Amino acid sequence: MRENNPSVKPAASKAIAEYRKVRASLQHKCTRLHNLHHAHLQCGKGCDACCINFRVFPVEFFSILSAIQSNKLNINDTQPEQCIFLVNHSCQIYEHRPSICRSHGLPILNMDESGEQWELSYCPLNFKAADETYFTLDNGFQQDYYNSKLFLINREFVKHHEGETFSDTELIELRRMKDYL
Ligand code: SF4
Repeated sequence: MRENNPSVKPAASKAIAEYRKVRASLQHKCTRLHNLHHAHLQCGKGCDACCINFRVFPVEFFSILSAIQSNKLNINDTQPEQCIFLVNHSCQIYEHRPSICRSHGLPILNMDESGEQWELSYCPLNFKAADETYFTLDNGFQQDYYNSKLFLINREFVKHHEGETFSDTELIELRRMKDYL
């Protein structure tokens, strides 16, 4: 089903602008960490197991949609678990890809359920378990820091977004973008 991209009210546009600022700052951080871990990172064309069908906040979904809507894009809709923008091992929307894609390959830190301890995750192709002493709070990507910012921005966005309604915590599958393209 093809849907129209809903019109965007000024307050929703402001939220999209805020989202893009946070994404730029996140990118800056990821670039620094990629440089720092350069010797470990094996990520490259053909290694795309990270490119799954992510779900993103509506503010991110509609921001990306507005950036790519006028482009002629190839879409790969053959595997439901895979990202539709991964075609021939290349990201078709690389410049506009979601924030979660920007930290692919980096050591990721998330706060555990108690809210008191960081949990580390990393790609075993890039880092070995024996490397764990190598990780610090400064050389890991603190995902929750950006997720909290995105949550607040998205909350404003969904309040003012016209068309489909979303709760504060609702996420949209990236795959759904094909309905608008
Ligand atoms: S948007 Fe690009 S980088 Fe992100 S999962 Fe899809 S293909 Fe991979």
